[in-house]
Amino acid sequence: MPSQWPALVREISTCHACEELAATRQKVVVGDPAPAVPARLVFVGEAPGAQEDAAGRPFVGKAGQLLDQLLADAGMSRAEVGVLNVIKCRPPNNRRPTPAEVAQCRPYLQRQLALLQPRLIVALGLTAVAWFLGRRTTLAEARGIVHRIGDYKVIATYHPSAAIRFGPAGAPMAALRDDLAFAARELV
Ligand code: SF4
Repeated sequence: MPSQWPALVREISTCHACEELAATRQKVVVGDPAPAVPARLVFVGEAPGAQEDAAGRPFVGKAGQLLDQLLADAGMSRAEVGVLNVIKCRPPNNRRPTPAEVAQCRPYLQRQLALLQPRLIVALGLTAVAWFLGRRTTLAEARGIVHRIGDYKVIATYHPSAAIRFGPAGAPMAALRDDLAFAARELV
């Protein structure tokens, strides 16, 4: 973990910039840094859900359990990777973050990535993919290639919650599995 990480955690944890989110959240979910710097791999999702909001940690609910399982299938483990979100506070009723909330929280994720210096980023779901690509796109367009965004290499894939929603035989599950295998190959 970078030495400046704890100070950034303290700063994010006391943020009240989004009035509604600050009033309704239980905990700010700052994210898990990778154990090493530069990080090999960092995942970026959309926002905390109910279980993450209660625990104060990212991807601890069903989506997180699926991510752990798919990581293991690709020969990696959660302990080796960083896990962050575009916004750090749970939107009420798990609604999509508003553009204003994404913009307000943007500097925090920028600073987290600058500290972790990831070799590869996997953007989970369209909110995260749009955060990096700077435009709305579809996952069909964005998947399957390594995007060079400034200093970063970014792979786009589905959010694990989409894979859960469509079930084990659904296209998002197969795509997520393929894309994590792609990420593992990129790291070799
Ligand atoms: S989502 Fe980000 S910017 Fe908004 S209150 Fe939470 S930490 Fe602050």
